[in-house]
Amino acid sequence: MPKPSIAVIGSGFGGLAAVIELKRRGYHDIVVIEKGDDVGGVWRENTYPGAACDVPSPFYSFSFEPNPRWPKRFSEQPAILDYMRAVADKYDVRRHIRFGSEVLAARFDDATGRWTVELSDGSGPTESIEVDILVPAVGQLSRPAYPTIDGIDTFAGESFHSAQWRHDIDLTGKRVAVIGTGASAIQFVPAIQPQVASMTIFQRSAPYIIPRPDRTFSQLHHRVFERLPVTQLAERGTWYGLVEGLSIAWVYAQPLAAAIRGISRAHMVRQTRKKPGLFEKVWPDYPVGCKRILFSSNYLPALTRPNVELTNQPITKVTPTGLVTADGAEHEVDVIIYGTGFKATEFLAPISITGSGGRDLHQEWAQGAHAYYGMSVPGFPNMQIMYGPNTNTGGGSIIYFLEAQAKHLGDFVAHHEAVGAPVAVKAEVERAHDARIQERLAGSVWSQCTSWYRNADGRVTTNWPLLGVQYQREVRYDANDYEVVS
Ligand SMILES: Cc1cc2nc3c(=O)[nH]c(=O)nc-3n(C[C@H](O)[C@H](O)[C@H](O)COP(=O)(O)OP(=O)(O)OC[C@H]3O[C@@H](n4cnc5c(N)ncnc54)[C@H](O)[C@@H]3O)c2cc1C
Repeated sequence: MPKPSIAVIGSGFGGLAAVIELKRRGYHDIVVIEKGDDVGGVWRENTYPGAACDVPSPFYSFSFEPNPRWPKRFSEQPAILDYMRAVADKYDVRRHIRFGSEVLAARFDDATGRWTVELSDGSGPTESIEVDILVPAVGQLSRPAYPTIDGIDTFAGESFHSAQWRHDIDLTGKRVAVIGTGASAIQFVPAIQPQVASMTIFQRSAPYIIPRPDRTFSQLHHRVFERLPVTQLAERGTWYGLVEGLSIAWVYAQPLAAAIRGISRAHMVRQTRKKPGLFEKVWPDYPVGCKRILFSSNYLPALTRPNVELTNQPITKVTPTGLVTADGAEHEVDVIIYGTGFKATEFLAPISITGSGGRDLHQEWAQGAHAYYGMSVPGFPNMQIMYGPNTNTGGGSIIYFLEAQAKHLGDFVAHHEAVGAPVAVKAEVERAHDARIQERLAGSVWSQCTSWYRNADGRVTTNWPLLGVQYQREVRYDANDYEVVS
């Protein structure tokens, strides 16, 4: 019997992890459909000034591909993208990729037991291909979200989202509005503050911020990492332990969470001292850990500069010349930058996915996305999702989770190959898994505030509620959880 053919959608870290693992196991009939023009996913798209990872590079990288030459501990976007390109080249992944091709729809055919995948070149449907196995690896943070504000389209100046940075717009001497104070905004605000004439930051909800222990890795570091790989392993292990400690704090140890809150408070008090009244504006009013805690040592100092103003007033409308807030103040600006995050809970949108018996995936997920370890959905045979529902982490490295998922995928493909028929997760197994996850989440810190972890109904659909190591152990493949679909 020929080896199964596999279509992977996306060539971010998830797609790369999947393809490398499948090739390692001898599966080479792989096509990767990528709508962008390069590998990289979010690291190809997010080119805003100051873009960098929040988890130190020695841990935010593949365990099987350590990079002794990271320029910094928290590497910036160009270095991460270079790393991904180098990994794609080394493992000969590009050969499999069709760049500039977008998946519009995928349909499982009960008669043939195969998936038909419809492609577009951006201007409309072009062709369809047939494969045995479908692996959506489209990420949780690949579709920018804009707020709904009256008059948003009437603004006469320039406006753009941080994930679609307009490098052609010179911000020098401009009056800039920044909407949002999440993970992206706290990176680009200090990067552009010295350049702009004035900046008004519109904050809906303040993040907890803790110091960012960044450092530039010197030539000496690089030499030591290269010659004594165990030193880099130690750096990776240390950061693994520290970020897993964050998850321990949120999941199991309230006193530890309280200690992190204390560290954050001391840091934020110290960094806002120069501007009276600023601390009161930026100190969060929800339980620590409920939203992703952010590492930054330069955001708050930027807010103390004379050309920066932060307002907590809700925006009531956008006008041709700026924004109006609930207190009636009119803020005239030249440029609006949306640091408003992503449509994280709209998993796999806008791709239309039809499973066995004509089931529509988005209808199945109308009350919120769910899948067995974020990967398998009953009624959708031969489909394995990377970075699917409830596989995001409140503190750790997504890449660690993706590697565990790639192994599960590899075992799944082997299972399918052995039985020679489509395989799907058992409905009762997925139901029990989801019930357990949701019960755990209901009592968790993530259910205590609104955030991108929750959908409109308040269900936490993005986050894994336990430690990374527990995910890695539990997601190991168990053929008993699956059934052959005839
Ligand atoms: C600015 C930023 C910083 C981050 N920092 C960290 C961090 O420090 N630590 C951490 O753990 N995580 C971080 N993340 C989360 C990040 O999303 C994951 O770490 C990881 O990169 C996800 O990889 P992915 O391959 O699953 O998704 P993505 O990187 O989003 O890649 C998905 C790919 O699928 C393609 N695609 C989507 N739809 C289609 C379609 N229909 N057809 C064809 N192609 C399609 C996209 O073009 C994209 O290339 C960050 C995210 C952002 C946005």
